[in-house]
Amino acid sequence: MSFIHSIKFRFTVWYLIVLTLLISVLSVGVYFYLSHSLHRNLDRSLELRATQLQTIQGVMSSIAMGEFEEELGEVVLLYFSIKNSREITSISAQNVDVTLDSELVQRALHGEAFYTTITAAEGKELRFYVFPLPRSVPAFSPARPGILQTGTASIESAVIAVGRSTEDIDKSLAGLIRTLSIAGPFTLILAGAGGVFLAQRALKPVDKIARTAHQIGESDLSRRIPVQSRDELGRLASTLNQMIERLERAFKRQQQFTADASHELRSPLSVIQAESTLALNKERSPDEYKRSLEVISNESAHMAKVIDQLLMLARADSGRESLSFEEIDLGDLLASIAENTEILCKDKGIEFCSDLRDSILVSGDRAKLRELFLNLLDNAIRYSPDGGTISLTLRREEDMAVIDIADTGIGIPEKDIPHIFERFYRVDRARSREQAGAGLGLSICKYIAEVHGGRIEVKSELGKGSTFSVWLPLIDPLT
Ligand code: ADP
Repeated sequence: MSFIHSIKFRFTVWYLIVLTLLISVLSVGVYFYLSHSLHRNLDRSLELRATQLQTIQGVMSSIAMGEFEEELGEVVLLYFSIKNSREITSISAQNVDVTLDSELVQRALHGEAFYTTITAAEGKELRFYVFPLPRSVPAFSPARPGILQTGTASIESAVIAVGRSTEDIDKSLAGLIRTLSIAGPFTLILAGAGGVFLAQRALKPVDKIARTAHQIGESDLSRRIPVQSRDELGRLASTLNQMIERLERAFKRQQQFTADASHELRSPLSVIQAESTLALNKERSPDEYKRSLEVISNESAHMAKVIDQLLMLARADSGRESLSFEEIDLGDLLASIAENTEILCKDKGIEFCSDLRDSILVSGDRAKLRELFLNLLDNAIRYSPDGGTISLTLRREEDMAVIDIADTGIGIPEKDIPHIFERFYRVDRARSREQAGAGLGLSICKYIAEVHGGRIEVKSELGKGSTFSVWLPLIDPLT
């Protein structure tokens, strides 16, 4: 997998995009905040200065004494109009070539105080606070020859503009831009490298999990992915392990099933082959042929039964077994089955009794339910010795119909009881083979009971007998 298509790459790219946005927003924010506070400080200092220059006499005498020149970087402009003259006179406290627009001077002469930024001749920017001086001043005696004629005049209104250069602010802001434009990309490069490193570290276990899972798929399902942490990746590993375990079990079941099925079919086939070879070997008597054909017929019937059962289980597994549900009176159905069973029991010298007085209605597939009860009764007959007893009873318990099939047969060992419903499971192959069972009957019974929404239970004691109980839900539990 190329780096470009990896999560590492996408993770790092997204991380860098987000970081670039954050750094940009932060830089712009810092720039504007700093610019705003520096300008505000400058304005405040200008306003503070203005409070010191509240009288025209004070200003005039400061100009005369050259005090303003001592204030580094400060520019003070004085504008006033003399009574009975429409002219506005201006005095600059320093020797700088900067003047206010007459429009601005007029605004201030009319009593407005404001800030303004003016570009001086050399392109330098100056920030001014322009404010009107109180009108109470009657006269003054200008003391700087060359600036104002000597004499006495009555001042009608005056305006002072105190200005300072914004050069320091511009330098600070330019410095900030320089710092940010170096630090930003540098941070991004470091963060990108860190991002790749972290992504690689974080995703290393994923690579390991993928590699191990791949090997497991290719080699054997008994291996497991090592779970090294309890975080999300640890959980992923244990989830995969659980899945592999289920697959392993299913795979083993499948293998076992195939092996059992072929074994179950191979044995009768071998008997048929051997019997027919023997019969064809030389001329035989009609009785010998008859006996051989009987053997072949029995084994073929066994094979046909096993194949039918396998087909049914395969259809059940794939969900293709079609069932036609209808209302069934269990009393009637069991009574008709009991008639046939009684005949079979008589043949074997087994006593058969049934108690089917109740008329109980269930919803079910008649053929399948018939197969279920026949299978259980067939087992009861097969595993009961001559002289035994088999009983068939129908009762209701709460909202279920319960059918008990009890025998006084050989019983089932306790250790085998949990397994008897498994496919091909036979308690003792020797005792079952001679009874011609393939170990599929009870798994089919369990399937039929469950597909009807019921269940099947067994109680058994070795040497004493077994009772199989089938529980089926009633159509209308209230009746
Ligand atoms: P099979 O066709 O071999 O009888 P089943 O699935 O019907 O297969 O039964 C599984 C096993 O359960 C049998 O091998 C048998 O030993 C045991 N079993 C079933 N029913 C009875 C019973 N009524 N009495 C004793 N053992 C039984």
